[in-house]
Amino acid sequence: MNIHEYQAKALLAEYNIPVPAGSACMSPDDCTAAAKKLGGDLWVVKAQIHAGGRGKAGGVKVASSIEEVSQHAHSIQGMNLISKQTGPQGHIVKRLLVEEAVDIARELYVGMLVDRSRQQIALLASTEGGTEIEEVAAATPEKILTAYAISANSANGFNQNDLTFIAEKLGLSGPTKTQAIELFNTLLQLFIEKDASLVEINPLVITPAGDIIALDAKMNFDDNALYRHPEINDLNDPDEQDPDEIEAAKYDLSYIPLDGNIGCMVNGAGLAMATMDIIKLYGSEPANFLDVGGGATVEKVTNAFQLMLKNPHIKAILVNIFGGIMRCDIIAEGLITAARDIHLSIPLVVRLEGTNAKQGKKLLADSGLSIIAADDMADAAKKAVDAAEGQS
Ligand code: GDP
Ligand code: MG
Repeated sequence: MNIHEYQAKALLAEYNIPVPAGSACMSPDDCTAAAKKLGGDLWVVKAQIHAGGRGKAGGVKVASSIEEVSQHAHSIQGMNLISKQTGPQGHIVKRLLVEEAVDIARELYVGMLVDRSRQQIALLASTEGGTEIEEVAAATPEKILTAYAISANSANGFNQNDLTFIAEKLGLSGPTKTQAIELFNTLLQLFIEKDASLVEINPLVITPAGDIIALDAKMNFDDNALYRHPEINDLNDPDEQDPDEIEAAKYDLSYIPLDGNIGCMVNGAGLAMATMDIIKLYGSEPANFLDVGGGATVEKVTNAFQLMLKNPHIKAILVNIFGGIMRCDIIAEGLITAARDIHLSIPLVVRLEGTNAKQGKKLLADSGLSIIAADDMADAAKKAVDAAEGQS
């Protein structure tokens, strides 16, 4: 689960990591009131969406008067912010953050994430913080420094020599170095205590006086651990969730829209992943991930078809079901009823395997619907790719 920058900064503040004074706002009027309350003569107005790259996209603006705060707030609120991380469709800004502006001497990058291959928590740091970090990682990866917590789940934490090495490589010395090392250790504590999967501070700013401040913050939490963090779960902003994913959850379907043109309906997450892989292998791209779970009832299948068909790029549907406890003839009946009910007009390729597969295939063949039957996964993928190409 993702949270907003202002929420992440409140968490950092709970752990005594310095953040700029600021206030979350729902309207331009809120923003001017917040700026007046903060005082000073320079403020930053920031779009609050669950994606980065806002600065470059016009979603972070500095204001030197209350009037300017109001102007920026009006221009940012409601805008469709399109950044590398939002994808081409962009994201409508509903919430804002107004902060006192910080005087910046240097911008560093600090990130923490789970390195699955090493089964450890990794600390990433770079002198090249700010809005170009993706380019730095691609072009000059040697500028990203890494340290690993000794054990991902223990209180052992980092090797302090590694942290000193990183702080010095970042060009820090004296009290600034001490502050940075303390921040790395505190960040690990937060990461473990809150079951985070990603914490990113970019930029971590060094002020002209040599103090460090987290100027931006991004956090992601392990969904499977949310049950033990109601305080994190409460930070969920439904406005930021994909409406189709919310709709899918209502029908107990796991659905993730993707960029391709072959819709996939599969039972079981592993089989769904394999189906997407094999579509790619035969030269096409899946339009979605969709796991219907254990029971492919008529209602579920109908909802699944309807969800997939909302995607304007879809050219064919590949159904790949393994009938275990759920028998293939029951699944076939569900498919036939659903396809009839919604007047499915794009090619439907079906591969049924498992209990009563023969009966299921016969039902499909006798249905009068133009369903393309497939013998195995490779055959199904080939037929779906051909059918999609025939449509375009
Ligand atoms: P992102 O583009 O979504 O990562 O948004 P950030 O919060 O990281 O802001 C982008 C950039 O805006 C930062 O890298 C800074 O250069 C600039 N910025 C943000 N807040 C301030 C501030 O308080 N003072 C100054 N001078 N620049 C800021
Ligand atoms: Mg940033």
